[in-house]
Amino acid sequence: MGLITGGGSGHKPAFIGYLGAGMLDAVAVGDVFTSPPADAIRLAIRAADAGHGVLCLLGNYSGDVMNFRMAADLAAREGIDTALAIATDDVGAGFRDEPDRRRGVTGQVLIWKICGALADRGASLSELTATAIEVNAATRTVGVAIAPCTVPQAGSPTFTLGESEMEFGVGHHGEPGSSREKLPRVDVICERMLTSILDELRPVGAPVAVIVNGLGATPQMELYVAYRRVAELLDKEGIRVHRAWVGEYFTALEMAGFSLTVSVLKEHLAELLDAPSDAVSLRQGLIRVAETDRPRTQHAPATDGEPAGRDDQGASDTDNPEDGRQAAREVLSALAAAMPAERERLCRLDAELGDGDHGVTMAKAFTAVGRMLDAPPGASTAGMLRAVADIFITEVGGATGPLFGSAFLAAADEVPATGPVDSAAIARMLEAAEAAVIKRGGAGPGDKTMLDALAPAARAAKGSAEEEQPVRAALTRASQAAERGAQSTAEMQAKVGRAARLGLRSIGHVDPGAESVALMLAHAARQLLLPQSTEHHAEGQPT
Ligand code: ADP
Ligand code: MG
Repeated sequence: MGLITGGGSGHKPAFIGYLGAGMLDAVAVGDVFTSPPADAIRLAIRAADAGHGVLCLLGNYSGDVMNFRMAADLAAREGIDTALAIATDDVGAGFRDEPDRRRGVTGQVLIWKICGALADRGASLSELTATAIEVNAATRTVGVAIAPCTVPQAGSPTFTLGESEMEFGVGHHGEPGSSREKLPRVDVICERMLTSILDELRPVGAPVAVIVNGLGATPQMELYVAYRRVAELLDKEGIRVHRAWVGEYFTALEMAGFSLTVSVLKEHLAELLDAPSDAVSLRQGLIRVAETDRPRTQHAPATDGEPAGRDDQGASDTDNPEDGRQAAREVLSALAAAMPAERERLCRLDAELGDGDHGVTMAKAFTAVGRMLDAPPGASTAGMLRAVADIFITEVGGATGPLFGSAFLAAADEVPATGPVDSAAIARMLEAAEAAVIKRGGAGPGDKTMLDALAPAARAAKGSAEEEQPVRAALTRASQAAERGAQSTAEMQAKVGRAARLGLRSIGHVDPGAESVALMLAHAARQLLLPQSTEHHAEGQPT
């Protein structure tokens, strides 16, 4: 059975340090603190699969969840079975009543270790998944920070703290914890941390595994000072420590602080935890190759990873020549020129609600679209839309990659096999894109996302189609509806994505993803209204 994980960079030695016999078979990583693109995860799945399936272990971040799910869908098309197990060990930022919403942090190392040992013994995909879920349920982590980290792309610290303040319950990317308070002595910090864990996790008779994990800028000596107190407290509670690790196992760039993980070990889990491992960052025991009967890769090397759909581009060049491919090319070229120019505006919107990168992401995607259009002339409309989807799936990552990737893929499937792309086809394409975004991200109308622009756009295009208006009228109406929809997000409270964490504070700002959708439709409609536009000529409108 194959075992993979992945996530954003910036957490060294996670994820790469845990590759090796007895632990993980492959990892997929994204930019700093950004989910890897779905295609990178697909390649990791493919590299890890030996014909029996692959368990994907991940933390509970919406970008990771969407990209891993999308990768699993892509892998299924290649005939590879996968399952996902999502870690939620962080008790730091509340969600006591909704533990499924918690983040996955350092506790994941124990899941990787235990599942890695089990996979080597030939467990099935369902046994492995059940064990990952069992370990997650028995594991809790809490972190504290006394100084933030700076994401290189953003250039400024993720948060600021006063001289002698600490953020209690801090996330692995500097997300706010449960409280900000005056910095007490380390013994008191440890007591508070352990209490918040043991409040939820009462080991009855069973021993525990402990990790005291430095977040990047905390000296090893201080980590041992903390562990000393944790060990004393556990001893007082009559809880036996089966194994403990003290050091850097899952960092957050140069954040100063540490996290404490405790995992209750039933006997079979303790035994798996003790099994040898050859991963550089968790090497223990002696592992002989013969000990792992985990089958090795039989797939073609991952480097031949032809992204999904790109092959269709050429194949469909011969079909339906009236599919408006020249107009589609012009529209995509217009977007390739216009969207990178919206970078600042979209980043500003995302800075109010999320992490400020949305404009960068869209600019990156559409710059790649421009390069793609330079390549094979004569590609079909569906082929070009699939190539755009591929760019989002292969190069973009984050939340945007899988959402826009799914939307463009679904739209491509609605390009008519024969006959022109008329307003009815446009309406179907937008509706399919809307359905794909709902399926991928689980958001609904009014949740303050790109859907609040896409859904009214699809309805407007449908109205145009019913009145048999030309494509450019349908797109104009759709873009106006999308813009009104995007503006209306200002009054909404975010329910999904990064912005959801802001709660009521998200009200008053336009959602960047919704604005992107509105901008894309506006630039598309504007292109078709230009005098030299292909569609314009084709329909013989007076200029
Ligand atoms: P990230 O959140 O990974 O930084 P971006 O900043 O590129 O991604 O995109 C943020 C946008 O993604 C949001 O403004 C929102 O419109 C959209 N979004 C996030 N999560 C979802 C979801 N679950 N469903 C639909 N749209 C979403
Ligand atoms: Mg963002």
